[in-house]
Amino acid sequence: MSGRKFILALDQGTTSSRAILFDDRGTPRATAQRQLPQIFPRPGLVEHDAEQIWRDTVAMARAALSQGGAEPSQIGGIGVTNQRETTVIWRRDTGKPIHNAIVWQDRRTADHCQRLRRDGQDELIRARTGLIVDPYFSATKIAWLLDHVEGAREAAGRGELAFGTMDCWLLWNLTDGKVHATDATNAARTMLFDIHRQRWDEGLCKMFDIPIGLLPDVRDCAADFGHTAGDLFGAPIAVTGMAGDQHAALVGQACFRPGMIKSTYGTGCFVMLNTGTRAVTSENRMLTTVAYRLNGQTTYALEGSIFIAGAAMQWLRDGLKLIDEAPESEALAAGLSSTGGVIMVPAFTGLGAPYWDAGARGAILGLTRDSGIAEIVRAGLEAVCYQSRDLLAAMQADARAVGDLTLDVLRVDGGMVDNNWLMQFLADILGLAVDRPSVTETTALGAAYLAGLQAGLFPSTGEVAGLWRREAEFTPRMPAELREDLYDAWLAAVARVRTVA
Ligand code: ADP
Repeated sequence: MSGRKFILALDQGTTSSRAILFDDRGTPRATAQRQLPQIFPRPGLVEHDAEQIWRDTVAMARAALSQGGAEPSQIGGIGVTNQRETTVIWRRDTGKPIHNAIVWQDRRTADHCQRLRRDGQDELIRARTGLIVDPYFSATKIAWLLDHVEGAREAAGRGELAFGTMDCWLLWNLTDGKVHATDATNAARTMLFDIHRQRWDEGLCKMFDIPIGLLPDVRDCAADFGHTAGDLFGAPIAVTGMAGDQHAALVGQACFRPGMIKSTYGTGCFVMLNTGTRAVTSENRMLTTVAYRLNGQTTYALEGSIFIAGAAMQWLRDGLKLIDEAPESEALAAGLSSTGGVIMVPAFTGLGAPYWDAGARGAILGLTRDSGIAEIVRAGLEAVCYQSRDLLAAMQADARAVGDLTLDVLRVDGGMVDNNWLMQFLADILGLAVDRPSVTETTALGAAYLAGLQAGLFPSTGEVAGLWRREAEFTPRMPAELREDLYDAWLAAVARVRTVA
């Protein structure tokens, strides 16, 4: 048998659980994936069956190992990455969840968040956690479970329960209940973790009435997380890497220098800017978060998201039936020299950063008798680029306020980045080069890199950065004047749909 080492990445996402086997160059060798059923008890409520997530994860891990022909002894380490914030509480004695997991999208704690804001707690929460008070984050979900599951609060008080996000839940099960731990990036999304002092915040735990004993131990992203139970894969495998999905993608894109940005273009769009050892507080309601923590050293990031990116293509396809497949948008857009003044503001669910206008709704403006399907489709793609500029401009302003940080590299991934026209227009509107990597499975790759760092497959992040490969680079070629005119027209269109100034 060759001495070749592999890393097994477990990518537990919102809609599927996957396992990908990577070799020691970061090349994917085998993939197994299973869709995850969504449970919708009522409108606005979303749950997952945590036990099914565990069963699927083990099954996919075994499938990837056997497909890749890898023995447990050849696995240097397991890296876990996951949908963030999704909350599960289980009994320590039986390992059984006391309720379905409450998914990040779930809005059942909106009233609780409203009360926190009304009581003026949002500033304190912001200062400690870097987060804006919102039902997304775990704290109010934990409080809801303790309040609504019979006997939960008493059991928690007696130390009988454990809380975790999906990383932590999987680790508990992988180690057969021996390790109750998470990493700093996942902890940073709970709204209970002080990102500056890097520890659970007792004041916040009191505010939410959550016993600190419910919470997991917080470790670096590349760390010793224990070994898998002996019978799980035939022999024990070390778990050595962990990070929330967006953070793992930042690592997978090797954005290790301040000023480097990764942007993921899928259904929505998630942007993360590495701000180095400084935690930058945003004036534009971006989130401040832990990019990753290695060797006890925390690197911070600013994070912003666009609610509707690829989802606009889904709407054009399924709602309006203007296209049969999203990739058709590329030829339609490229066939035009412009939209002829048509602008789409896809505020289907309100406007996010930097506008934060939940009441705003979408619009298509500037229609004439010449406007056709191609113009509208192209306007949908252009909107993704204008919104990216909105976000990056806000991040740039925040970064400037603290010093000399310049946004310099944008690395993209996600389903939309296959669209070459879109990538060129993005570079043009941002006035920034856009880099597309050869491996676009950046989330799983990031988890594999973290695990490989701890397992000694990669000596340092410098080594990892050297493995990153560019597949294509898009450099701005639009005249600056046209860029600014187009962007001004976008800003004017956004002003038309806003309900708050
Ligand atoms: P997610 O992980 O959010 O499910 P993906 O990263 O798989 O999303 O990306 C899928 C999204 O990208 C869909 O919304 C789809 O409409 C869009 N998409 C896929 N290919 C293209 C393309 N060539 N041009 C434009 N949009 C695309």
